[in-house]
Amino acid sequence: MKPSTICVQGGWQPGKGEPRQLPIYQSTTFKYETSDQMARLFDLKDAGFFYTRLQNPTNESVAKKIADLEGGVAAILTSSGQAASFFAVFNICEAGDHVVSTSAIYGGTYNLFAVTLKKLGIETTFVDQSASEEEIQAAFRPNTKCVFGETISNPSLDVLDIAKMSAIAHKNGVPMIVDNTFATPINCRPFEHGADIVTHSTTKYMDGHATQVGGAVVDSGNFDWDAHADKFPGLTTPDESYHGLVYTQAFGKMAYITKCTVQLMRDLGAIPSPFNCFLLNLGLESLHVRMPRHCENAQAVAEFLETQEDVAWINYPGLPSHPQHELAMRQFDKGYSCGVVTFGIKGGRERAIKFMDSLKLAAIVTHVADARTCVLHPASHTHRQLTDEQLLEAGVKPDLIRFSVGIEDVEDIIDDLKQAFAAIK
Ligand SMILES: *Cc1c(COP(=O)(O)O)cnc(C)c1O
Repeated sequence: MKPSTICVQGGWQPGKGEPRQLPIYQSTTFKYETSDQMARLFDLKDAGFFYTRLQNPTNESVAKKIADLEGGVAAILTSSGQAASFFAVFNICEAGDHVVSTSAIYGGTYNLFAVTLKKLGIETTFVDQSASEEEIQAAFRPNTKCVFGETISNPSLDVLDIAKMSAIAHKNGVPMIVDNTFATPINCRPFEHGADIVTHSTTKYMDGHATQVGGAVVDSGNFDWDAHADKFPGLTTPDESYHGLVYTQAFGKMAYITKCTVQLMRDLGAIPSPFNCFLLNLGLESLHVRMPRHCENAQAVAEFLETQEDVAWINYPGLPSHPQHELAMRQFDKGYSCGVVTFGIKGGRERAIKFMDSLKLAAIVTHVADARTCVLHPASHTHRQLTDEQLLEAGVKPDLIRFSVGIEDVEDIIDDLKQAFAAIK
């Protein structure tokens, strides 16, 4: 099935007389007839539901839809995008290991790698993704276990060359993990470009209506863990917490996601509620209709902003002035990237704030990728404690406005921008 059909019909497949819409299995537990039936589940000898922290039918259906959208073999849903990024890396890294990540990533992920993973004994080297292959290669160590990058980075909107980074990862015998939140599988399917594992903050476009915080990890099933067995003992040697089971032997292409579920979810417990998964599924049912509209509106907004004399600079992958415009056109379906545009206002921080406060239709919220147009000024909000100098070091210009273009009539969005420009004259 094509992505549009998977959005609408993927995941839940009702049988005769069963509900047409995905049921919410709001139950912590599941009943069995004999003690032995339950014991076989705990030994991973039979597949089935027994406790919602490990698996739940509602969650499973939505995970399957997302796995199918990405063209993967399996997926796991998590309670947030942050948990998804953590699980994706921690499933194959432990104390003493090393990660290579591009520096153009979401601030929360940067903190996770630079601060929290470091406390757990996992070090990260950040690389400039536009550097030469030799420079990126220099970041690798014998204990490197994965490469991480973002298809389109939040908020800097850098476009990752997935084929190039995946090739470097594979040369070093490690998988490429890609956070595909901003592009979504409607605009880009990283597995088609060589990535091995995909993560999502489903909080953003996948939900699209600002109703639930969630995440997903998807496995392509393509990375050959056994070919690099010495690097990935967690997958290729016996797990004593399951009577010496070896994940790659017992589960083949499902090894990575199975370990994520039965080990990380068992021990860390970052599960989404079945109700949140139901809401996410409603969002997914229209993802393929919303994404083109977000992108067409964002393109029109970006082209309008380019004509404004009060705009100091503008950044959008759909504009020829974007540093990776050609890559975006090549890598993304129909050249559609995402609905987020960033730009600066002449006159710096003060005028940027006045401009934002003058917007009426675009709401000031800590969110992006919503059906409703929204806006954030990182220097005043998420990066508020930093001086202008520190902001520049963090890659956030003091005048940067992150404008998340919604799916309203684009004329109304542009009219709102026009009246805000008039207000700062
Ligand atoms: C928001 C976001 C995250 C974190 O997701 P949460 O659901 O907020 O935990 C990770 N990556 C990207 C690209 C994001 O935009």
